Amino acid sequence: MAKISFESWRQTAIFHNPLKNGQLDTQEIEVRIDPLTGHQSTFNPALEGKISILFPDTDYAYLEERAEATQGQCFMCDGRWRTATPTYSTDILPGGRLQRGEAVLFPNLFPLAAFHAVVILGDRHFRLPNEISADLLEDAFAISVEYFRECHRYNPSVRYFTINANFLLPAGASVMHPHLQLLGSPFPGTHHQLLLEKSLAYYEANGSCYWTDLAKEEIERGERMITRMSDSTWFTAYAPVGANETDAVWTETSHFLEWGTAEIRQMAEGIAGVLRGYHDMKFSTYNFSCFSGPVDRSSPEFRCFLRLVNRQNAMPHHRTDDYYFQKLLKNEIIIQRPEKLATFLRRYF
Ligand SMILES: [Zn+2]
Repeated sequence: MAKISFESWRQTAIFHNPLKNGQLDTQEIEVRIDPLTGHQSTFNPALEGKISILFPDTDYAYLEERAEATQGQCFMCDGRWRTATPTYSTDILPGGRLQRGEAVLFPNLFPLAAFHAVVILGDRHFRLPNEISADLLEDAFAISVEYFRECHRYNPSVRYFTINANFLLPAGASVMHPHLQLLGSPFPGTHHQLLLEKSLAYYEANGSCYWTDLAKEEIERGERMITRMSDSTWFTAYAPVGANETDAVWTETSHFLEWGTAEIRQMAEGIAGVLRGYHDMKFSTYNFSCFSGPVDRSSPEFRCFLRLVNRQNAMPHHRTDDYYFQKLLKNEIIIQRPEKLATFLRRYF
C-alpha cells in the first residue's frame, strides 16, 4: 500500500480590522491539496462559527409555500408521470420505464448523454433532506443499476455511468419533487475522466489502487472517518470540492454492474444518514454524484466513488455558493474543518 500524503500550504493575510477597533489583524489561511487531483480547498479559521455569512439560514416557510405553489403542475405528482413522461423503446427497456416501490425511472426529455434517465424519489412532492429514507433510495438505486445493465446490453459502447442528484432550486433542480439523474455515455465526463486518468497514473506509479489506499489511510487516521459498512468506507473529504463534502469508496467493486443488493443498500443507508446530519445542521440542499469505472471490465486502478455536498440553502433571492472562486478558479472554501464535520456525522451511524 502506497502512503497517501495530505499536503497543505499556509499563508498569512495582514490588515487593520475594523471589527477589532482597527487593530492589526493576522489571519492564517490553510490551502489543502487533494492527494489525487491536486484540487485546492481553502480554510480560514476566522470563518469558524460564522457559516451563516456564506450560507444564510434556510427559510422553511418559503420552502413550504413553494411546494404548495408548484405541486399542482408537477408532472411527477399524482401519477401524472404515467402520461407526461417519455418511455424507452421496448428493446431497451421491456416496459418502457422501470418501477420499484415508489421509485420510477424514465428517459429525460432533453438528454445530455446517449442514456440520460430521471428517477422519481417517491410520491411526495416535497421532502426535507431528513425525509429521504434509505428504503426509498434503495429502490431508486436498484432500478438505476438495472437500467445501466440494460443500457450496456443494448449498446455495449455505453460504458461510463454516474448516479447524480440535484435537490431543490439552489442545487440546480428544475422541479422540487425529489429525483435522481442518471447518465450513461461512451465517454466519461470531464471530472469522471480526470478521476480515471489520475487513478491509472497512481496505479502505474505505485502498483496499488488509490481508492483502496485512501480508504485504508482514512480508517487508520480516523479523524475524517464516519463509518464502515462492509465494503464501503465513508469519510469527509480532506480537500472538499463543495460544502460539507462527504465521500464513500466501495473498495471491492470498480463499476456498477459488479454491484449487488449489499452495495446498493450501503449507498442508500450512507446517503440517508448523511442527509439526516445535513438537515440537523440546517442545510437544506444537496448534490451528489457516484462514479463507476467502465462497466465492460474490472479496473484494478479504480473503485466506485461517491461525492455528496451541500449547496446554498433554500431561501428567497438566494446567493449562489458557486462563484468565481469555484466556477472559474476551480477552488473551494472549507466552511468547517472536515475533521469536525466527521465527528458530527458519526452520530448518524
Ligand atoms: Zn411533485
